[in-house]
Amino acid sequence: MQETNLRIRLYGDPVLRKKAVKVKEVTDSHREILKKMAQLMYEASGIGLAAPQVGISESMIVVDCGSGLYKLINPKVVKKEGWQVLQEGCLSVPGVCIKVKRARKVLVKAQDEYGNHVEIEAEDLLACVLQHEIEHLTGKLIVDYASFFEKLKMADKLKELKKRSKDERLSESKDKSCQLQL
Ligand code: ZN
Repeated sequence: MQETNLRIRLYGDPVLRKKAVKVKEVTDSHREILKKMAQLMYEASGIGLAAPQVGISESMIVVDCGSGLYKLINPKVVKKEGWQVLQEGCLSVPGVCIKVKRARKVLVKAQDEYGNHVEIEAEDLLACVLQHEIEHLTGKLIVDYASFFEKLKMADKLKELKKRSKDERLSESKDKSCQLQL
């Protein structure tokens, strides 16, 4: 696990499409990653972030949409009720906004950063954000909900993001190839 130098991964990065692995035992390193994820989320003015979005394919999310910070491990939606449609953005797909229909109320079961089991009853925005982040753990992105017209509208943007994402990965591997920066 590389917990140092986490950065937000952009559309086109394969890690965003990978299914995250369940965390079996919560360790200091998970707590460290969650802390860093929250930092990155706040820095980017986001209200949620999932571990795959920082290149870590493990089942962890952070959420703060005004009612406090949630750091959740192995989160799962166990109950859904009603419907809502909101315009959603995503830190991994900047510049793209998609209408997504989701449950209005959810019950989420998860573990906190110390491995304790927790249940969260959420509605409206918090329910939406939790569902969005939990879907990241299955490799699903808001672009998958795009209508025909939304797809046409975002095509150029996605192409540009894919290129940026590739360039970032390339420059990262170059950085790693030389340990001594003199
Ligand atoms: Zn997202």
